[in-house]
Amino acid sequence: MNEHGPSRLRDKWDDAACAGFTEPELLLYRSNLLGSDLRITNYGGGNTSAKVAMRDPLSGQDVQVLWVKGSGGDLGSIKIDGFATLYVERLHALRGLYRGLVHEDEMAGLFPHCTFNLNPRATSIDTPPHCFIPHRHVDHMHADAIIAIAAARNGERLTQQVFGDEVGWVPWQRPGFDLGLKVGRMAEENPRLIGLVLGSHGLVTWGPGSRECYRTTLRVIQQAADWLDGHCRAEPFGSSVAPALPEAERLALLAEIAPVLRGLLSPSSCKAMHYLDTSPVLDFVAARRCEELASWGTTCPDHFLRTKIRPLFVPFAPGREGAQDLLERLPRLVEPYRQEYAAYYERCRRADSPAMRDPSPVIVLIPGLGLLSFQKDKQTARVAAEYYLNTINVIRWAEGVDAYAPMSEQDAFDIEYWGLEEAKLQRMPKARDLEGRVALVTGGAGGIGAATARRLLAAGACVSLVDLDAPALEAAKADLQNLHGRDRVWSVRCDVTDEASVREAFERTVKEFGGLDILVSNAGIASASPVEETSLAVWQRSVDILATGYFLVSREAFRLMKRQGRGGSIVFVGSKNALVASPGAAAYCAAKAASLHLARCLAVEGAEPGIRVNVVNPDAVIRGSRIWSGSWRAERAASNRIAEEEVEDFYRKRSLLKRSVFPEDVAEAVYFFASDLSAKSTGNILNVDAGHPAAFTR
Ligand SMILES: [Zn+2]
Repeated sequence: MNEHGPSRLRDKWDDAACAGFTEPELLLYRSNLLGSDLRITNYGGGNTSAKVAMRDPLSGQDVQVLWVKGSGGDLGSIKIDGFATLYVERLHALRGLYRGLVHEDEMAGLFPHCTFNLNPRATSIDTPPHCFIPHRHVDHMHADAIIAIAAARNGERLTQQVFGDEVGWVPWQRPGFDLGLKVGRMAEENPRLIGLVLGSHGLVTWGPGSRECYRTTLRVIQQAADWLDGHCRAEPFGSSVAPALPEAERLALLAEIAPVLRGLLSPSSCKAMHYLDTSPVLDFVAARRCEELASWGTTCPDHFLRTKIRPLFVPFAPGREGAQDLLERLPRLVEPYRQEYAAYYERCRRADSPAMRDPSPVIVLIPGLGLLSFQKDKQTARVAAEYYLNTINVIRWAEGVDAYAPMSEQDAFDIEYWGLEEAKLQRMPKARDLEGRVALVTGGAGGIGAATARRLLAAGACVSLVDLDAPALEAAKADLQNLHGRDRVWSVRCDVTDEASVREAFERTVKEFGGLDILVSNAGIASASPVEETSLAVWQRSVDILATGYFLVSREAFRLMKRQGRGGSIVFVGSKNALVASPGAAAYCAAKAASLHLARCLAVEGAEPGIRVNVVNPDAVIRGSRIWSGSWRAERAASNRIAEEEVEDFYRKRSLLKRSVFPEDVAEAVYFFASDLSAKSTGNILNVDAGHPAAFTR
């Protein structure tokens, strides 16, 4: 099963935990339990339902209401408002309007007319089987063990062998009204059945109560897994011919090729990468038959909607060949893949098919290295990778006990370009402007760094937080993950003055997201003392962090962005003091001025490859700042002859606009330079200092 983990499914039902729950609450409880184990159903896959007697708000009478998972939700994380509610009687009445298979899609347009109690949740295209199966509780799952049987050449015979007469077989048919009627009839005519295997697709099971239904689903999946494990022959993928490289070599190779591949696969909008090198993946890509089996395509509709019908297999001999061989090979493979996809579209398209979508591969398999998945955002990329792992499990079992027989190309196309799937895609929220882009923020745990990370995350970017202070970094990461989920927030400890440490931070960012589009160089310190009292150590430290540190991260970003070939944006968080000489802070001011001029030089060098370099100059950002919480506050207070608690007020009053500057104000300016809003600006300075005539640029 997934990850070769323990193959026993755990019965997590706890009567005490759900005592006193209503039927809809029990359905929710059951759904979350089922969705919490990827061996039971894949992310976003499958659905559950319950038929519940409820008081009709129109008539005051009790009516039967179908509670069914709404369109596009995920069982593991669904909440009660994720379920659609429909009158069972009205759904049944739709049978009278059904005009036959070629017209079945029009039935989906009638489902909203059956809505109970004005529930705004759109119901799923899988609603008909849930309604027409004459049992109170119904589960529909995409378990690997079941799909393996469903996608085996002799799936019907295997179903009989594994389950006897308890579980029936339905040959492949696209989900819809017709399939719903068919499975409803089978369940009605065979009262001994506890479920059905849907050919090339998955499982339907049922029961009189939520608990019984849950346990039946688990038992059927377990029975399939046990049987498959017991009958699976050795090495169903063939012998291992390209063993995995050691982990450190995998990471070094990935750092070389991922940005190039990401550039090749992102011709228009940027894509995020997810890398998977778990042992089932490494075993699959190492095997003699990997290329052949992968070319046969995926099977369960969910699988190829997420991963495309087949991955891009990149021939590679780990150990004998190196990064250079791959870098030469990749461009020669990507374009033919796209052409082949376009040819598949042309072969299978129908008169009313939606336009062809991005023909680039989603999954890339490389022997010795593993699986790389590229999608419009990190979560979609991760889920696609997990789906391909499901496919690997399916192929292993199907080939292990019989022969893997995925559905025909035309059937797959008819799902991929199904009008109802297209409608689902059209309903998705519009992409945010930094979606799929990767940003690295140094000093990411501090006030301006964390506020910048928040702003970039809100615009859809993936963010790699970099900081020297490990506990503060952990706290900032946890905070941002709470706000934006785990997928897009990553952190790595780094000393920006150390060449090796900087290189490693960038390599780890590449491993996590595939490349880099935005660098925000922000890590800083401050010091103040009259020049004759400034030690060499203080001078050197200022130059190390504020000039050399900015140089080292920029150099690494340039190397990476040039390999990627998609341009990029580098933003320096400078200081008003880069422009304005300030008494008693020569080391700080001079180092800030050095980085300001560095930005201008890099803007000139970066123009040709499309790398923009700009500077945001804040002043007196006191709230939330780690710099201002140290001795700097006391030093500035002394230098200005004021008390420490008067510092914030002092700086506010000193500005033209008489306003305090907050980390969020600086973050907004960084976002402007990071995004395409400033696509035609490079070598620029934007002051965020509430106005200081001495800092006016000219
Ligand atoms: Zn399904």
